[in-house]
Amino acid sequence: MHDTFELEGFHYETGEYITVKIKGSLIERITSAGKKPEKDAIVFIAPGLIDNQTNGYYGIDFQDEIFSVERMRIAAKAIWRDGVTTFVPTLVTRSREDLLRNFRVLASVYNDDFLMGSVPGFHLEGPYISPVEGFYGCHLYSAIRKPSWDEFMEFQEAAGGKIIIITIAPELDGAAEFIKKCSEKRVIVSIGHTNASTQQIYHAVECGARLSTHLGNGCANTINRHRNPLWPQLANDRLTPSVIADGFHLLPEELTVFFKAKGEDNIIITSDVTHLAGMPAGEYNYMGSLVIKNEAGLIFNTERNVLAGASAPLKKGITTLMNFTGCTLRQAVNLATKNVARVLGFNDRGVLEEGKRADIILFTTDENNTVNILETWVAGKRVYPEN
Ligand SMILES: [Zn+2]
Repeated sequence: MHDTFELEGFHYETGEYITVKIKGSLIERITSAGKKPEKDAIVFIAPGLIDNQTNGYYGIDFQDEIFSVERMRIAAKAIWRDGVTTFVPTLVTRSREDLLRNFRVLASVYNDDFLMGSVPGFHLEGPYISPVEGFYGCHLYSAIRKPSWDEFMEFQEAAGGKIIIITIAPELDGAAEFIKKCSEKRVIVSIGHTNASTQQIYHAVECGARLSTHLGNGCANTINRHRNPLWPQLANDRLTPSVIADGFHLLPEELTVFFKAKGEDNIIITSDVTHLAGMPAGEYNYMGSLVIKNEAGLIFNTERNVLAGASAPLKKGITTLMNFTGCTLRQAVNLATKNVARVLGFNDRGVLEEGKRADIILFTTDENNTVNILETWVAGKRVYPEN
C-alpha cells in the first residue's frame, strides 16, 4: 500500500491552478484543479530546490571531525525547511586524512533512509586549485596541491563512489589528464578557484569540463581586464556557471551579465553555504580563521579581506536573481531546479512531471520577491512542517 496525497497550487511556470497527485514517492498525476481559491495569498507549487554546493547548515559543518550521519539528519531538516529537497554535500581543500575521514561518513549518509535520497552524491571543491593569493579564496593554503588521480581514487573509494562533482583549476600540472579521466568515470568537472588562461580553460572543456564553480568568486580582486579567467568561461557555451546569488557575492550588473551571456537555460544558482547558514550574527572560527557574520548574513574574513563562504539559503538566490536581473519567477526557480537537475544528470527530479520524484515545495512570494516556504515534500513525504 502506498500513501496518496493531493497538493494544489499555481504552477510556478504556467500560472495554471493545478492538482498534483502523489502516490508513494512519485508524482502520479498532474491535472487542472477545479476552482481557484479566492482570497488567500497565491500559493505556488514547484519542484523542490536543488543545491550543488552545500558545505554545512544550521551549525553543522560537513568538514568537521565530529561530523556524523546523525548530525547530517539535523542539517537536512533545516535544509528541507528552506525548500531544498536535494543537496550535494561539499568538502573543500583539506589534508588527505581529513577528506578520507569525512567522505567515509558521507558514504553512510548516502545510504541513510532518513534522508530519502536527498543526497545523491558529493562535491569535492579542491584540493587541486590555484595556490595564488586571491584565487584560492578562503581554502586552506597549506593543503592545496597538484591533481593526483591515485589520491582522488582513494577519496572516491571512501565515498562509496559517490563523488559526482569535482572543482579543479585547469592550469595545474596534470589537470588536463585528470579532467579526462574524471569525464570517463562520469564525475562532473567544474572549473573554479582558477587563474587559468583562455587556452587552458578551452582545453579543459575539450577534456570534458562542464561547469564553472561560483563564477565571479574565487577570483583575485586585481585581474587583467582583457586576460582573466572570467571572459573565456563566460564566452564558452559548453560551460554552465553556478552563481552565488545571495546579494553579496556578485553585484547586480555582474549577475545580470552572467544571466544574459549564458541564457536562462545555461546557468544555475548555488548556495555555497557554510555551517553558519541558519546561525545568528557574530564572530566565528571558520577554517582556522576568525570570521564575522553580520546581521544581513554576510560572512567576512577580515584578516585576509575575503568573503568566507555564504550563509543565505538557496531560496534567497531566487529573490536576488529576480531583483537584480528583472527575470521572472519561472526563470529564477528553474535556475535552482530544472537547470541543476539537467547539468548534474538527475533525471528523476527537478521538474513537475508525472513519474518524477515527488520532491515538491509550496510557497508564497511578496512584493520584494521574498520566497516563503509553506511546505516541503521529499519523495512523497511531507518533511516541513513536520507531521
Ligand atoms: Zn569556492
